[in-house]
Amino acid sequence: MAEPAISSFDVLVIGGGAAGVAAAAELASAGLSVALAEQRPTLGGAYHRQPVGGSARQLRGQRQWLRLLRGLAGAGVEQRLGHVFIGLESDGIAMLDDRAARRIRSIKARALVIAVGAIERVLPRPGWQLDGVMTSGGLQMLLKETGGVPPGDLLIAGSGPLNVAVAADLIRLGRPPVAVIENGNPFARPGAALRLAAHPGLVAEAARHLARLASARVPWLRGSALAAIERRDGRLRATVRMPGGGSRMFAADIVALHDGIRPNAFGLPAETQAQPIVVRAGDCREALGIRAAVADGRHAARQVAAMLAGTVRDGSADRKIGRQRRAQAILHELFRPVDGYGLAALPDDTILCRCEGRTVGDLRLMLAETDAPGLREIKLNGRFGMGLCQGRFCADAVRDMVAAARPAVDGGASGPLSRDRWPLRPASIAALAADDELQEGK
Ligand SMILES: Cc1cc2nc3c(=O)[nH]c(=O)nc-3n(C[C@H](O)[C@H](O)[C@H](O)COP(=O)(O)OP(=O)(O)OC[C@H]3O[C@@H](n4cnc5c(N)ncnc54)[C@H](O)[C@@H]3O)c2cc1C
Repeated sequence: MAEPAISSFDVLVIGGGAAGVAAAAELASAGLSVALAEQRPTLGGAYHRQPVGGSARQLRGQRQWLRLLRGLAGAGVEQRLGHVFIGLESDGIAMLDDRAARRIRSIKARALVIAVGAIERVLPRPGWQLDGVMTSGGLQMLLKETGGVPPGDLLIAGSGPLNVAVAADLIRLGRPPVAVIENGNPFARPGAALRLAAHPGLVAEAARHLARLASARVPWLRGSALAAIERRDGRLRATVRMPGGGSRMFAADIVALHDGIRPNAFGLPAETQAQPIVVRAGDCREALGIRAAVADGRHAARQVAAMLAGTVRDGSADRKIGRQRRAQAILHELFRPVDGYGLAALPDDTILCRCEGRTVGDLRLMLAETDAPGLREIKLNGRFGMGLCQGRFCADAVRDMVAAARPAVDGGASGPLSRDRWPLRPASIAALAADDELQEGK
């Protein structure tokens, strides 16, 4: 039987990670009709990413994931896998790009819970666009999905606990990285380290990872910064600034970069209590990690259920979420970069927007013009943030450079470089032309 042009549900949950799955199960158990849309072919999200074709074993958190799936099973949630949320039309219809069918599916829901996770921050560096350079999270996803990583020597660089976790995963696989370059120096922040004792789960996890690095003799070079990458004699050569001056060169075949994570809030519709209600949950609301994601998903679900029932629920965050917020603040302090961000020191030919191949020098030229271009012109004329990723990787750096050169130009939180608008993700013309609604109106 053909699917109706517009399907209707009480709630559409977008994103099948820990937060979205927890929210969908909670909403369905409250008696609401729920659809759960996930862009990938399987549920799982970043942390619980599932092996492709059952080839790899799960790295961590399998028990939590099975518990979440049990909550979903039998709850009557309609799962829409391989469906990319591309936007919310002004008349409140959510549009999903059904990638397999190459059609846009329209869903009318009284409320949306958006749980589309986080994205990695990667700071621009000379050579970060070269083949063989990827993100640490990307490498981890590959490992989770396939159980393996590409051949050759691996170097991990940037900042944050994820780099240590990925290094530990690689050691378990028998592929220890040549080094982990860490821009922060957690050992030099005893106050924050002491406060972390209030989070024994995190301490135990960190201890496990660091013990693994030590036993595999993988150097964890704290307070050092990867300054540039180049390709020479068929290998990547990374120049690393060492603490106290001086530099070291590392040769590798794959360089994994990661400088933290941030909410994947690019282009999302604003939260609202007017119907359709829009609420964000999990890392896309506030990147607080896996421990908070489940609690936040349930919290969002209870909020939405209360709003739909016309009752008011206490808007304050659950205790669990507050605790994880404090834990993340400590981690931020521990991993605070020692070697400055250094955008101003980047050479002109450093690629800033990788999608469009725009350089630091291109932006500097625009900023040197007599008529200060606003962020909108920088996007439309300069094409920064205009490519496939729509600024997810370059918008912060562009905004920071603009702010440093022209404090008067309004950058806003994300600014006009990443305005709310659809399609949120590239959608094919064929899919848009085959829109169920358009077909109906023929
Ligand atoms: C790359 C990466 C690696 C991480 N590794 C670790 C780790 O090792 N340890 C740790 O504790 N934490 C890790 N985290 C953080 C942890 O994964 C998160 O805190 C947790 O997964 C958050 O759950 P979530 O449901 O909010 O988001 P996610 O788990 O990210 O789930 C979001 C889901 O939304 C889907 N989605 C996104 N956009 C759309 C769209 N437009 N339409 C439809 N679906 C969409 C995604 O495919 C994804 O399945 C990592 C985060 C990232 C980004």
